[in-house]
Amino acid sequence: MSASALFSNYARSGLEFDRGEGIWLVSKDGRRFLDCGSGIAVNALGHSHPHLVAALKEQAEKLWHVSNLHVVTGQETLGKRLAEATFADKAFFCNSGAEAMEASIKLARRYHYDRGEPERFHILTFEGAFHGRTLGTIAAGGQAKYLEGFGPKAPGFDQIKAGDLEAVKAAIGPQTAAIALEPVQGEGGIREIPVDFLRGLRKLCDETGTLLILDEIQSGVGRTGKFFAHEWAGISPDIMAVAKGIGGGFPMGVCLATEEVAKSFAPGTHGTTFGGNPLAMAVGNAVLDVVLADGFLEQIQSRGLSFKQKLASLVDSHPALFEEVRGKGLMLGLKCKIAPADFVAAAREHELLAVPAGDNVVRIMPPLTITEEEIGEAISRMEKAAADLESKLTVEGAAK
Ligand SMILES: *Cc1c(COP(=O)(O)O)cnc(C)c1O
Repeated sequence: MSASALFSNYARSGLEFDRGEGIWLVSKDGRRFLDCGSGIAVNALGHSHPHLVAALKEQAEKLWHVSNLHVVTGQETLGKRLAEATFADKAFFCNSGAEAMEASIKLARRYHYDRGEPERFHILTFEGAFHGRTLGTIAAGGQAKYLEGFGPKAPGFDQIKAGDLEAVKAAIGPQTAAIALEPVQGEGGIREIPVDFLRGLRKLCDETGTLLILDEIQSGVGRTGKFFAHEWAGISPDIMAVAKGIGGGFPMGVCLATEEVAKSFAPGTHGTTFGGNPLAMAVGNAVLDVVLADGFLEQIQSRGLSFKQKLASLVDSHPALFEEVRGKGLMLGLKCKIAPADFVAAAREHELLAVPAGDNVVRIMPPLTITEEEIGEAISRMEKAAADLESKLTVEGAAK
């Protein structure tokens, strides 16, 4: 028997953290790591943000859980605030990204069912997508490595390549309920969906009565410098899945929709025991206090631009390691010529955390509160990691 009593579904780094302070994570052995991963885009306001800590503590002394059999005041408040700040009229709170996406898929199907078109249950998705790890969302994501060995793929998901509107048009049929996509693919490798393509999808959806579902679980809540990434394209979805950053580290998700669509979730159609509990709602409301404060999103845009420019210089000065820098705001990616996990490991040696993704990309997604000075520090650590890798390449090259 191995030492850990945990399932072996993760290849962990071995690092063990004791506490966090802003953008910094302190390991048990006292090393300070600059966190450019944010627990996979979750710690939107960094670690131990005083406003979030205070909100959670205050709620913890009052009330933890009552279930959705009763009114949860925090849900009413947060729902209204989200409705005011987005396209949406209504919110359904849950506990994770996959659940927010499952709710979105179910809602789209139920909407057509309610309109007398139960055969419209197919969801059109795109290559490189990631929508979660439930049986429904692995079918939506369509990636063979996540589907393998888990029985037949759930029916009703059709996948095509992003970027070709004619192909989308051809793929929309009498069975199509919705098109679902991430405006910036996260796990897929920080791949931005072009704004013209998003606008084209909106138009195709309007013409065919198809619903547009956006998965903004990773790209939302300020990550790209807008409250939600689709705002860059000036379009809005009918349904949107949100999680990760909205809880600032407290597990929560939310499915948002227009009134017309949301009403298909009539009493009894869908539910959750834990979703929207008072603790999560207290933290979610506190996250919005900061993210929607005057100037915060603009600050993300300017810090993101600065970080991206500095990453571009890093790419230029290490052409053997890197190909390009991608992304918007503080959702950035370094496309590598080496294995991204190798760069992540080398950076860890210099106490910098980043996250590998698909398409040979390393994700750089620091807390949205990162300062200019911390960006400079992050770059200098990445420079050191790059230098280590380059000298290794030289040694290997010489040995051949
Ligand atoms: C993380 C993620 C999910 C899944 O969220 P979980 O909370 O892990 O279930 C779904 N879609 C996208 C775009 C994500 O980044």
